[in-house]
Amino acid sequence: MSNVRVRFCPSPTGNPHVGMVRTALFNWAYARHTGGTFIFRIEDTDSARDSEESYNDLLDSLRWLGMDWDEGPEVGGPHGPYRQSERMDIYADVASQLLAGGYAYKCYCSPEELEERREVARAAGKTPGYDRMCRTLSAEQIAAYEAEGRSAVVRFRMPDTDYTWVDLVRGEVTFANEHVPDYVIVRATGEPLYTLVNPVDDVLMEVTHVLRGEDLLSSTPRQLALYDALKELGIAQGERPQYGHLPYVMGEGNKKLSKRDPESRLLMYREEGYLPEGLINYLALLGWSFGEDREFFSKEDMAEVFDISRVNANPARFDLKKCTAINGEWMRALETDDLTDRLIPYLVTDGVFAQHPTQDQVLTLRKAVPLVQERMETLRQGVGMLGFLFYGDEGSPEFQVEPAEAEKVLTPDAQPVLTAGLQALEQLTEWTTETIEAALREALIDGLELKPKLAFGPVRVAVTGRRVSPPLFESLEILGRERTLARIQAAIG
Ligand code: GLU
Ligand code: ZN
Repeated sequence: MSNVRVRFCPSPTGNPHVGMVRTALFNWAYARHTGGTFIFRIEDTDSARDSEESYNDLLDSLRWLGMDWDEGPEVGGPHGPYRQSERMDIYADVASQLLAGGYAYKCYCSPEELEERREVARAAGKTPGYDRMCRTLSAEQIAAYEAEGRSAVVRFRMPDTDYTWVDLVRGEVTFANEHVPDYVIVRATGEPLYTLVNPVDDVLMEVTHVLRGEDLLSSTPRQLALYDALKELGIAQGERPQYGHLPYVMGEGNKKLSKRDPESRLLMYREEGYLPEGLINYLALLGWSFGEDREFFSKEDMAEVFDISRVNANPARFDLKKCTAINGEWMRALETDDLTDRLIPYLVTDGVFAQHPTQDQVLTLRKAVPLVQERMETLRQGVGMLGFLFYGDEGSPEFQVEPAEAEKVLTPDAQPVLTAGLQALEQLTEWTTETIEAALREALIDGLELKPKLAFGPVRVAVTGRRVSPPLFESLEILGRERTLARIQAAIG
């Protein structure tokens, strides 16, 4: 065990996205590499935006990806509760200690007044942050504001100094004092903000390393200042945490990948049948490198060598094609039985299988998986490639040639090809890949003198429903004589 304590602390708003998971992964890997503790904390203090659905999606996503947490929801731990919505009295207490100690003050300015003064500052070419008006209110002024019935936010009093830290990713970073305003930590409604609850919990949960996205860089000087205040109040015990800011993830057109981009939605990957191993492998490459040009590795491999010093400060580019290709590599690396098991839920979701596939169906699937393992990059593609084997089973839909494919391939010209193929297959006494292949070659290539594509295309579409299918002769063997003949027959009719 080491004393490294890192945290992943998303807000449960909207869909989990890949940037978030990348952050979780780097924290997880660092904890596992160092033998430290991976804390999972839910930052749900914004009741207007947080949702239970999003909370459940977050837990579900981390579980799906196999990122186990040592402290957090459903697991517990010595610093709980780990949902901030259950820690409100802690924040109220800290806020009042900060007020009493003079580290924070009440600000009675209305939004309109603030905006007016910002305008004036802008016009004068000054930094339009908060002008610290309420820092020095007299007791009479405060009494007057209270009598007016004004509500007040709580602002943190930024010390008059610059803040510098050695960022674990970016090296030395400095924020000049004028760029860090006295920021709001508690709303007029009494609700504590991220600016308070996040660093307070980092302190109370004894977080040693904060690894998070670069978008939070400007929070760091505020949090360092708050940390120092908490230290003086005796609330913080240890050292300031160390900070490392992970590079931006860029999407199409070199714009920051946004939550609205479909490829940023984590659940999409699960729906489309990416493997957790494949997705994690790809996300690891967003700003980190294994070394030795190695691009294929498990999260355990990653954890073994993970070091923050290998995190690159330059923006990373999100490339869905590459992500899919890496997933394909993972698909090929799976054992047949494992891949079969993983395909089943997708066959169920897509309605190919009933809720509980029969033993026969599972056996057939297992036989067919090696035929497509090399060519599918996602599990969902496997459903498309193998569904034809099961249509017509009890509980499954009837077999149907895709209309667009039928129109292209099952033309009048194809009729004699299908008829000759059918006759050849009907005569087979033994139904194996070899006998099927020999019979069709003899009838269509030798007999009708067709090129393979024109010879086998119509049979393929008639039997599998698509122009792209697993290897034809093997497929027919697995599909069985009766169904094969009936489907060719139907295509002729
Ligand atoms: N709840 C914050 C977020 O999701 C956490 C940021 C941080 O890591 O400090 O953006
Ligand atoms: Zn004010």
